[in-house]
Amino acid sequence: MLELYLNKPGDLQLREGDSAPSLSNEEVKIKVIYGGICGSDLGVFKGSLKHASYPLRPGHELVGTIIEAGKDVNYKVGMRVVIFPNSFCGECDFCLKGKTNICRHKKSIGVNTNGGFSEELVISEKYVLPIPDDMADERAVLIEPFAVVVHALNKVSLTPGMTVAIIGCGNEGMLAAALANHLGAVVTAIDINPVKLERVRSLGDIKAVHPEEITDEAFDVVIEAAGVKSAVEQAVQLVRPGGDVILIGLAQQADLPIVQIVRNEITLHGSIIYTFPHDFEQSIEYLKKKEFNVSPVISKIVPFTEYKMAYETAISGDYGKVVLNFKDND
Ligand SMILES: [Zn+2]
Ligand SMILES: [Zn+2]
Repeated sequence: MLELYLNKPGDLQLREGDSAPSLSNEEVKIKVIYGGICGSDLGVFKGSLKHASYPLRPGHELVGTIIEAGKDVNYKVGMRVVIFPNSFCGECDFCLKGKTNICRHKKSIGVNTNGGFSEELVISEKYVLPIPDDMADERAVLIEPFAVVVHALNKVSLTPGMTVAIIGCGNEGMLAAALANHLGAVVTAIDINPVKLERVRSLGDIKAVHPEEITDEAFDVVIEAAGVKSAVEQAVQLVRPGGDVILIGLAQQADLPIVQIVRNEITLHGSIIYTFPHDFEQSIEYLKKKEFNVSPVISKIVPFTEYKMAYETAISGDYGKVVLNFKDND
């Protein structure tokens, strides 16, 4: 069983991993099909994600097929599933309120516990969800990153005609633009990279501009998906009085005009990952719709043995989602 392994930041290798031990009653063994490379994988690789631990097998955006199931498992061998990569205890005060995304005992696979950039993966059935039969693997691998955006946009009630600005057109920004557009909002996407602006335009009727091209417009909702200080500050400048700013990027700090936020009753929402299964199920519902265009988000599917090139491509920032293919290497 081949796996990617990160000994320490920057030191990623392909190696023969230990084949999984026998399954417990509620575990499943998955043959991985695709693994998407996420911004947080790049953070783990570079050593810039504070809660990462090493050594570790990376990877959390995973779809695969169940090839073995413990005796109490409700899913059948042969089923395609998506992995829920953040554990939750189900018992802490946050879990009891349905906020499994901020569980006190949360572990994130591929970040602070072993992930699934490997040919096989063993995981509790609690953390898998079946993929509809008619959904292609290439779409299913977006269920997890798209759930982040579904969760974020659930902070506000978007109605057709509302104006939405998205700052930062990486994969999450692209997916946010796609969803807001799909929900009938008038969408402006903002990024400094012309390649990303071109890609976001290909999603549909979306205005895509450099930050300096925005002058005195004001938006009902602004989504910050760049994760940098200047973008957070611009987000607050761009929201209209009474509007909402949703922060999904992970900027360390920003200088915010509190008087303006108070006087204009601007609401700031922090939004982290998603809850399970609700946001995953909603993500699947959107992705099931054929008319919902997300195909420009994936720009490369690469055999996992070419992981070095895949990581370099993802780090370059000029591409959309880069996906590792684990299925055609037998
Ligand atoms: Zn991710
Ligand atoms: Zn909990």
